Amino acid sequence: MSQNSSTRDSPAPMLGVLRPQIYRFKLGRFEVTQILDGFRVGPGPHPTFGQDQSAGNVHSLLQANGLPTANFEHHFVPTLVNTGKELVLFDTGNGMGRMPSAGHLRDLIAIAGYTPQQVDVVVITHAHPDHIGGLMHDGKPAYPNARVVFGKVEFDFWKRGEVRDARKQTLQQFQEIALPFGEKATFIKPEDDVVSGIHAVNAYGHSPGMLAFHVESDNQPLLIWGDVANHYVISIQRPDWATGFDDVKDMAIMSRKRILDMVATDKIAVAGFHMPFPSIGFVERSGPSYRWVPASYQFNL
Ligand SMILES: [Zn+2]
Repeated sequence: MSQNSSTRDSPAPMLGVLRPQIYRFKLGRFEVTQILDGFRVGPGPHPTFGQDQSAGNVHSLLQANGLPTANFEHHFVPTLVNTGKELVLFDTGNGMGRMPSAGHLRDLIAIAGYTPQQVDVVVITHAHPDHIGGLMHDGKPAYPNARVVFGKVEFDFWKRGEVRDARKQTLQQFQEIALPFGEKATFIKPEDDVVSGIHAVNAYGHSPGMLAFHVESDNQPLLIWGDVANHYVISIQRPDWATGFDDVKDMAIMSRKRILDMVATDKIAVAGFHMPFPSIGFVERSGPSYRWVPASYQFNL
C-alpha cells in the first residue's frame, strides 16, 4: 500500500458538472477562439422548438438522438477572430446580471490571453439580449477601443421599435445599451466586408436583419451563423419546424434552409452561437434533411 493512500483521511469531494469554456483553433492564418459566455438550463425544448408540432413529435426526435425531453441546456458562444491585423469579436454574450450562469465572456477573454482593450472590432449578428447584453460593462463600453458593427436593417428595425409583445423587453435593452453606440457605429449590409477576409451574409428572419459572417483565410472557410439554428438536433434535422425565438418565422425558416443547404453543399465549417460548446461543426445531408457533425481535430493540425 502506498504512503498516499494510507494517509488519505477523506474521499475526494464531489465537484459537480465542469464545462469547458475556451477553445482556440487555426483557420488558415487566422486564429479563432470560441468562448462559453454561459448556459441556461430550462424546460423544453418543446414548445419553444417545434412550436407548430405536437409534443410527441418533438419528443420522438429528441429520443432518437439520445436527448431528454423535459429539460434542455442552451449554450451562448461568442466567437473571437484574430486575423493577425485585427481582433474581431462576434457578439458580446449576455452581459452581467441577466442570469448567474452566463455573462462570463469578458472575464474569459482575459483567460484566453487577450485584454478587452485589444478588441478592435465588435460585430453584432443581431440585437437579441444574449448577443448585445455584453456591449456595456459597468455602464461603459465593455471593449473601449472597438469599432462596433451592426447590420443596417437590424439596427433600423430595433430603432423604429415596432416589435411583438414578446420582444418589448429586448427593445428596452436595445434602447439602453445598443442605441448609444449608433452614432459611431459602422452599418453594413449582406456581402459587405467587416475587415479583409470577413464579409456579411443575409440571414434575415430569426431577427428581421440578422447577419451571418463568412470568414476565410488560406481557402479555409468558416460561417459564423449567429442564430440560424438554435438547437443542434431540432433546428438542423427539422429546419422547417417553427421556433419561438424566431421573430419573422417564415423568413427564418427560408434563411435556415438556404444556409443549411449552402454549408452542407460547400462543406463550410460553422461556428454556431447556440450549438453545444465548442460550437464548431459541419452540416451533413441526412435523408431528406441534415445533421450536425461536431468538428474534432481537423483545425488543430
Ligand atoms: Zn441567441
